[in-house]
Amino acid sequence: MNVILLGPPGSGKGTQGAILARRLGIPKIDMGELLRDAVRRGTEPGLQAKRYMDEGSPVPDEIIMQLVEEQLTGAEAEGGVVFDGFPRSIRQAEAVDRLLAEHGKGGKVVLLFDVSEEELVRRMVLRASTGQRTDDSTEAIRRRVEAYRRSTAPVVGYYRELGILKIVPGTGSEDEVAEEVKRAVGE
Ligand code: AMP
Repeated sequence: MNVILLGPPGSGKGTQGAILARRLGIPKIDMGELLRDAVRRGTEPGLQAKRYMDEGSPVPDEIIMQLVEEQLTGAEAEGGVVFDGFPRSIRQAEAVDRLLAEHGKGGKVVLLFDVSEEELVRRMVLRASTGQRTDDSTEAIRRRVEAYRRSTAPVVGYYRELGILKIVPGTGSEDEVAEEVKRAVGE
């Protein structure tokens, strides 16, 4: 099973994605983490992605799709993957559908984590005050929320039209939200 987690930065999809991936025994692909790792290792896609990430702007689709294909064709992805932070544009959504079809990996479930804007900002500011990320400045946080609205919100519409979008209430304890996720993926 392939699971796509959508939701604004700070919606808890990373934490819940990790719980879900562990339960299903499949890898979680955190696109932001994958990119940060590529930057740290100084690979070609990493070098190209760095300046976009430092500004809080989306990394071009070509770079993203190159990384996604590498992950999807890995042996650990045999039973499916949990995507976190991807797709973030309609082009990426269409490209992942093509890739999944090409590699004979059909089914997918799409979950949208629903959290109020107020709660999101509170969580992100809290993380920025304790975290190590170089892109957690107030300006970059603002840009990431804006980039989410501009590019990811249409992806939500895309899956809603396909009739495969499931909304998960993102407020509540970790266990409560995990239960909601479980229900939504039908496990
Ligand atoms: P995140 O860890 O999800 O907040 O992502 C950190 C940064 O990585 C973002 O600000 C973007 O620059 C980049 N990024 C992550 N996922 C994507 C994606 N699917 N498409 C384009 N850029 C991405």
